[in-house]
Amino acid sequence: MEHYRVKPGEVVDLSRWDPNDKGAFQGGKDEAEDAFRSLNKRLEELQELLYAENKNKLLVVLQAMDSGGKDGTIRRVFEHVNPQGVKVVSFKVPSAEELAHDYLWRVHQHVPARGEIVIFNRSHYEDVLVVRVDQLAPPAVWQKRYDHINAFERMLADEGTTILKFYLHIDLEEQKERFQARLDEPHKRWKFSLGDLEKRKQWPDYIRAYEDALGKTSTDWAPWYVVPANRKWYRDLVIATLLVETLEGLHMSYPQPEEDLDGIVIE
Ligand code: AMP
Ligand code: MG
Repeated sequence: MEHYRVKPGEVVDLSRWDPNDKGAFQGGKDEAEDAFRSLNKRLEELQELLYAENKNKLLVVLQAMDSGGKDGTIRRVFEHVNPQGVKVVSFKVPSAEELAHDYLWRVHQHVPARGEIVIFNRSHYEDVLVVRVDQLAPPAVWQKRYDHINAFERMLADEGTTILKFYLHIDLEEQKERFQARLDEPHKRWKFSLGDLEKRKQWPDYIRAYEDALGKTSTDWAPWYVVPANRKWYRDLVIATLLVETLEGLHMSYPQPEEDLDGIVIE
């Protein structure tokens, strides 16, 4: 999985990252089914442990182009975890109140507490992506944000938050198919908006904005992973693997009861 991680300071050229990659699973989806199921199960156990231990905090940031699979990832990868300890926060166009504050204000209040996993469906990175591409702020404003973001994430990490950031990498052709499916299937139409077509036209601008963001904000304390995402099953497998590896790296254990419970008999 290490080769999906963006190295700090790396100059990212997304055309060199293959969105069709399927790693060791050349046989495809069926071959990966068992691996995914056991990762899913392991994730459920690790989340339970994280919650019980009530010590660590995990923040997962998901970013992607429209139809890149953020919603699907959340549904599939986290399908077995206990909702009590997991929260999803989706960041939309900022409200008037949010815009009246600095751009990290709305984000900070949702970061995970001890024992929690929080998934950001979009994030503060929109403030160097859509804001840059649509010129919602001048360059002098958004260019400073990479440093702010690194400092902000550093502070979260220093205070006990583990941070994983995933860019779900699809290509233009895959987006075309997914948009078409949204138009063709009545139960998917709600996901389609005409604005998505405008954004599709801005694809090269978004790619450039992503390349900068990934290179400038992948740090030792909050790494970015470029996840091959044309194949949904492989995308889910990569993310589940990284989550499991990261949580296992925390060496968690169930808390000891305060009293000696050995002699207790329930009448
Ligand atoms: P969706 O994820 O499809 O529900 O769309 C949410 C929309 O909100 C996307 O078009 C984002 O680009 C937009 N959005 C999220 N954060 C910001 C932000 N900070 N500034 C402007 N637009 C944003
Ligand atoms: Mg959308």
